[in-house]
Amino acid sequence: MIYDVVIIGAGPAGLAAGLYASRARLKTLILEKEKAGGQIVSTAEVANYPGSIEDATGPTLVARMVEQAEEFGAERVLDTIKEVELEGKIKVLKGEKGEYQAKTVIIATGANPRPIGCPGEKELTGRGVSYCATCDAAFFEDMEVYVVGGGDTAVEEGMYLTKFARKVTIIHRRDELRAAKSIQEKAFSNDKMHFMWDSVVEEIKGDGIVESMVVKNVKTGELTEVFADEDDGTFGIFPFIGFIPATELFIGKVELKDEYIVTDEDMKTNIPGVFAAGDVRVKSLRQVVTATADGAIAAVQAEKYINEVFDV
Ligand code: NAP
Repeated sequence: MIYDVVIIGAGPAGLAAGLYASRARLKTLILEKEKAGGQIVSTAEVANYPGSIEDATGPTLVARMVEQAEEFGAERVLDTIKEVELEGKIKVLKGEKGEYQAKTVIIATGANPRPIGCPGEKELTGRGVSYCATCDAAFFEDMEVYVVGGGDTAVEEGMYLTKFARKVTIIHRRDELRAAKSIQEKAFSNDKMHFMWDSVVEEIKGDGIVESMVVKNVKTGELTEVFADEDDGTFGIFPFIGFIPATELFIGKVELKDEYIVTDEDMKTNIPGVFAAGDVRVKSLRQVVTATADGAIAAVQAEKYINEVFDV
């Protein structure tokens, strides 16, 4: 079967594209690696998506987006795409489970959390190191937690973690946060929030679970080993230091800039019939509201392209 539109990624951009494409009665398939949602699923509070006031957590918002896209007939398949052939009139996507053919492809693969890259981080992920506060905060009930980073994500997720942990310390490489002022104000007035300025994590240690970490003061060069409280035996480390776009599959296939996909304002990449939407593309504001807008535009442009190229 040849789909009109295959969308890679089921975050807000992919789901909005799925909604618009299926509403336009295009044969639409949304492919997702593990589960629908993208990054927004790891967000406890979505305060700035217009209209989402009550019950607005990342997972509830995404669940509604999925329902809406499916209501109009979009199909969803869980598969990991390993290879793409995008040049021809019919695009071919090869997954672990199957092969998919499409007249148009919308790339909405988003971005993944950037790791610190220090020794011990990988080995202790899921054993004290976590990239998702909503998922793992409850493991640190009444314990100590360290958040790495100084942007909106670090500070907001740190605030969320104060609902569980008895103390949350933000480790930031400078002496000033990058986060929006309104977010900073809330953090500074929260008694559970603490700050370790001019500091970076050099190493995470532990035998099967985080037991200590080495932190370096970047101004003095001083190294300090932070140990878990004896009664707790461990503590949490949540790195939120930005994201890396999920574009590995597309290297040499579509035009990239600093790893992000280049599009025009119609979401067109340099390859006819291939569009990109959401955090994966070069843009100035990566938010749910801009991701969904991108998805809508990409789907409408995909329909236009099909009408022109396939003589519908
Ligand atoms: P970000 O704005 O890029 O901030 C990353 C933070 O991590 C910065 O403070 C940066 O330090 C630090 N950092 C980067 N690399 C590091 C490294 N190797 N070691 C230690 N620290 C490092 O990322 P983000 O906070 O995830 O936000 C991403 C985008 O989403 C932003 O546009 C943000 O505004 C948006 N966002 C918005 C909301 C909201 O509106 N409520 C919520 C979450 C995210 P420096 O400051 O020194 O560069």
